[in-house]
Amino acid sequence: MLVVVLKAAIYYGPKQLEIKDVDVPKVGEGEILVKVRAVGLCPTDVRIYFFGSSSVKPPIILGHEFAGEVVEIGGKVSGLEIGDKVNVPADAFCGRCKMCRIGCENLCEDPLSFGYNIDGAYAEYVKIPKRFLSRGVIFHLPDNISFEEATFVEPVACSINGVRKAGVEAGKSVVIIGDGPMGLIQVQLSRLFGADSIILIGLHDWKLQLAKKLGADYIINALHSDPVEEVLNLTDGRGADSVVVTIGVPEVIEQGLKMAGKNGFVNIFGGSRKGSAITIDPNVLHYYEICFTGSSGYTFNDYEFAYKLVVKRKINVKKLISHKFKLSELFDAINQFQNKEKSLKIIIEPTGE
Ligand SMILES: [Zn+2]
Ligand SMILES: [Zn+2]
Repeated sequence: MLVVVLKAAIYYGPKQLEIKDVDVPKVGEGEILVKVRAVGLCPTDVRIYFFGSSSVKPPIILGHEFAGEVVEIGGKVSGLEIGDKVNVPADAFCGRCKMCRIGCENLCEDPLSFGYNIDGAYAEYVKIPKRFLSRGVIFHLPDNISFEEATFVEPVACSINGVRKAGVEAGKSVVIIGDGPMGLIQVQLSRLFGADSIILIGLHDWKLQLAKKLGADYIINALHSDPVEEVLNLTDGRGADSVVVTIGVPEVIEQGLKMAGKNGFVNIFGGSRKGSAITIDPNVLHYYEICFTGSSGYTFNDYEFAYKLVVKRKINVKKLISHKFKLSELFDAINQFQNKEKSLKIIIEPTGE
């Protein structure tokens, strides 16, 4: 490879992000170098940018929802060629810790995670460490799938874990709270899983209308009506079987709990700001036997399932993209992200022509 420097957005701590030239990482045995063609701007990255995170070790390059082209291959790598289009998961789990052994890889005690403890994809090139290759999680992309579509495998994988933890299955009534990309993915997953009725709650009419096209049976704009009351009306006063809260806001989580029916599930899917707290009536959990849970990340199994759904276009992700920016426009992208009125999923194209 002739390129020796690359442009990358280096994160130094809350509100300290610099786009500059850095050396292209050396590729060793068992590793590959990927030219990043598209990377999703994840709400988590924006939260880290503004508020920091105890699990992120700066200086580091953020960005973990990416797809690109293989441009360099280290020794002892098989099954890959220069020019291959690939998608790589955000994390490589260790496979040895207790959580990995019991099948909860998403809770791995020693993961390698792009943008957390290894450099991520807000850069022209990203080095893929050996563990990703040895664990067999480099996914080839067919020619007809665009790089921007492929960036959705990770959020779809997290969503699969999220709706499963919420008990979404055939015949159930499902409430998804939040009309962002995650909510719109989960509406589609609930439809695929055979849910009987799907209610999406949000704050933006155009996103709610899009959700209807993507499979929501009912949409509720929480600015115009009381969502708890509406959900109870739509479920014959019983409450829903499954509630997924994709918004990390305490009051919204409390509302979500009030929407669940007897024997129902409520899943906290979205992360909240540090120090957040909620108030719950324990009797609601006790007498209704509500399963109140959380979900975070995905297992490799969820990831592979998500990959299939995206490449077979069983989930429409294209419709969720509202903006695309170059890497040099990352700050504009972050500003756009905060303007929720106008934005849905934002894609960064570090090497976009
Ligand atoms: Zn993400
Ligand atoms: Zn592990």
